[in-house]
Amino acid sequence: MGDADKTDRKLIFAADLGGTHLRAATVDQEGRIHSRFKQNTPQVADAGAIVDAIVSAVHEFQKAAEISAVSLVVPGTVKVEEGAVVKAPNLPCLDGFPLAAALTDQLGLPAILENDANAAAVGEMWQGAAVGCHTIICVTLGTGVGGGIILDGKLWRGVDGSAAEIGHMCVDPFGGVACTCGSRGCLEVFASATAIVRMTREASPRYPDSVLQGNEDRTAEMIFEAGQQGDELALEIFRRMGVYLGIGIANLINILNPEIIVIGGGVVNGWELFEKHMHQQVEERAFPLLRVKIVRAKCGDDAGLLGAARLAF
Ligand SMILES: [Zn+2]
Repeated sequence: MGDADKTDRKLIFAADLGGTHLRAATVDQEGRIHSRFKQNTPQVADAGAIVDAIVSAVHEFQKAAEISAVSLVVPGTVKVEEGAVVKAPNLPCLDGFPLAAALTDQLGLPAILENDANAAAVGEMWQGAAVGCHTIICVTLGTGVGGGIILDGKLWRGVDGSAAEIGHMCVDPFGGVACTCGSRGCLEVFASATAIVRMTREASPRYPDSVLQGNEDRTAEMIFEAGQQGDELALEIFRRMGVYLGIGIANLINILNPEIIVIGGGVVNGWELFEKHMHQQVEERAFPLLRVKIVRAKCGDDAGLLGAARLAF
């Protein structure tokens, strides 16, 4: 039996720490997911409770498998070399917290941290829509808009770890909507799930016959479903969303000349409603001779977990 046999059996405990859910899985070197785990993220002002939740999940997995490292992705800026969270707007108790060191202390295993959208890009290149590509941009359309950029096979983190904040590219300087980052007119305020809900509310007085009227608890999913049935308000919102997204993507194409742009996150369910408008902007604005493909993500919710595992290997 060679060493290869031994390493084949080693699994990474990969965890995706979201503002709402803590999801985890054990992943092998071929990108196969062995077991899964999901619980609510502890909603406390204490980072210790989050560490405890991860530690007990790892202990549970260790009953069934040998775990060689822990790899965690968080929705925020991280200092990868130090394994510390810089700023996580949805989990403020982690701001400045040395999460990797805390996990290593309690588990005796190596631990690493990465930004969730960066990890999703790595996951899509390893097992998803960008297999075989080396220069890719991944855009995640969720509650916010995240991004990951891989150049010549290397994840581009920037000098402070905050590169690829695609959601905070300005796409509307005049009267643009205020963004949580402090700027105005960012892509995130036009292309996130939050933005779709807001834009629908703002536009609804002009569409008195819309099926979305009279419901103040609309979700992006409900708006998408209305659009599938031909609702004019929903179609107009996804048109606008696609236009802004296309402007942002055209900028990225002109700057980075990627092989492929992968679009993921929950809002990508509305692909059929925004795709045409997005492509139209790209055609009008991006250099015409470039070979870029723009595709839907393939790994779904697992992109971050798979990317985390890949980074740990
Ligand atoms: Zn912003």
